[in-house]
Amino acid sequence: MLKVNSINCGIVIDHITAGKGMKIFEKLKLAEADFPVVLLINVPSSKHGKKDIIKIENRIDLDLTMLGLIDPTLTVNIIENDEIVNKMHVSIPKEVQGMFKCKNPRCISNFDEYVTPKFELAHRNGKIRYRCSYCEELTSYSI
Ligand SMILES: [Zn+2]
Repeated sequence: MLKVNSINCGIVIDHITAGKGMKIFEKLKLAEADFPVVLLINVPSSKHGKKDIIKIENRIDLDLTMLGLIDPTLTVNIIENDEIVNKMHVSIPKEVQGMFKCKNPRCISNFDEYVTPKFELAHRNGKIRYRCSYCEELTSYSI
C-alpha cells in the first residue's frame, strides 16, 4: 500500500469516485498551488471498490456547490493538528449559478454577458437535469 504522510493542517477530499480526482484537481487549480498537494487515484476502498483522494496541506476555500456537481459522494475533511475537526458531505446542489450554460441558444443568459446563468435542480426520467431560471429549458450539465 502506498504510504503518504498524513497532513498536519489542511484538507482531505476523500471518497472521490475513482476517475474524478483529476477533474477536481483541475477545477481547484491545484496544479498552480505553492503548498503541498497530493492526488491519489484508484486507492482501494472498502465502500466503493476504488476511490480517489486529494490531500491539500493548506486551508483553501472550497466551492462545495461545484464539488457536489462533480461528485456528490465525496467528503471534505478539515484537518487541524493531525485530527479531523470538521467533516462535510456535499450533495447535488438544488440551485446553481454560473457553473455551466443553458442549452437553449436563444436564452438571454447565452447572449447577454451581464446575465449569469441560473438553474434549479429538476429530475427527468431518473436523470439529473437543471431548469433554466430564464427560459425554463432543461439542461444536462457538464463542468
Ligand atoms: Zn435558458
